[in-house]
Amino acid sequence: MRAAMIYDIKDVRIEEIPDPVAGPGEVVLKVEAATTCGTDVKSYMRGHATIKTTQARVFGHECSGTVVEIGPGVTKFKVGDRVATHNTAPDNTCYYCKHDQPSMCRGMAVLPGTFAQYVKIPAPIVAINAFKMPDSLDFASASLMEPFSCAVYGIDDIGIRLGDTVVINGAGPIGLMKVKLASLRGAEVICCDLSDERLEVAKKLGATHTVNPRKVEDQVKAVRELTPDGRGVDVAIEAVGLPETWEKTILMARRGGKVLLFGGCKAGTTFTVATELMHYSQLTLKGVFHTTPLHVQMAFDMICRGVISSREFVTAKYPLANVVQAIEDHAAQKGIKNLIDTWA
Ligand SMILES: [Zn+2]
Repeated sequence: MRAAMIYDIKDVRIEEIPDPVAGPGEVVLKVEAATTCGTDVKSYMRGHATIKTTQARVFGHECSGTVVEIGPGVTKFKVGDRVATHNTAPDNTCYYCKHDQPSMCRGMAVLPGTFAQYVKIPAPIVAINAFKMPDSLDFASASLMEPFSCAVYGIDDIGIRLGDTVVINGAGPIGLMKVKLASLRGAEVICCDLSDERLEVAKKLGATHTVNPRKVEDQVKAVRELTPDGRGVDVAIEAVGLPETWEKTILMARRGGKVLLFGGCKAGTTFTVATELMHYSQLTLKGVFHTTPLHVQMAFDMICRGVISSREFVTAKYPLANVVQAIEDHAAQKGIKNLIDTWA
């Protein structure tokens, strides 16, 4: 099969590699839709903390497809089923899983890359985090399940109450998904982004106010001024992945407020919080990584109901040969997410 192999930072090659074969409990999918993500952009531009770039591997991690082969013992799916799959599954046996923190699992099963014509789903993912798609669901929307499950986890984890004011810094795919979810939670949503185009999408998804930092003198002040008496937001969320944005996000929260630091920053970077602010304002700062099987289930159910779809999130389509262009365009914020047609 043809696949996009990532060798190193900014080194992706289209190559012919052996077709995957389904082992016990495994399933092979023909990839029908694969989508680009901020994580792919980061892997391509600067490497990724959880990815070893010393050995070439298939690039990409979001997809949906049709079952072409089932391994011994698989009863959940049959050949021809349309399947939405997550890219990981926890082992449910390690210390962290036992403490109900499966996103911290040390024995996570991981899907091989998805920018390929076929992908083999490891047995734990087949069992826990793969779903038969209803006929009404399109492949491109199903491919959004993985990033959406991360957005669902973040929003569920930080807790938003009816009537809260929430700021979401960053209107990339995850930020926009969080805008939608926060607005479903009954919050007044402020969204900040450097792109007016993306802010328009945020409005369509439920943002009541938008702030373009390029157009205001002081972004933190501009956000605080949108809250009663300038007290700050109840929940401040960072979905960019820059230490300076983490710091600004913290300054947007009200006394006693909560801050969700979602965007992964470059390895080795740090951020600073005034001890006085942390103490006297009784802030809650929360890091969050990836997702959990519960939130994957929630994401799948919501995608089946059309809460989000490829209509808003998939803005362009590229053949496999142009995967680097798709990643570079994603990085340049042209559109929201790109679909890779691995068969074109
Ligand atoms: Zn575990």
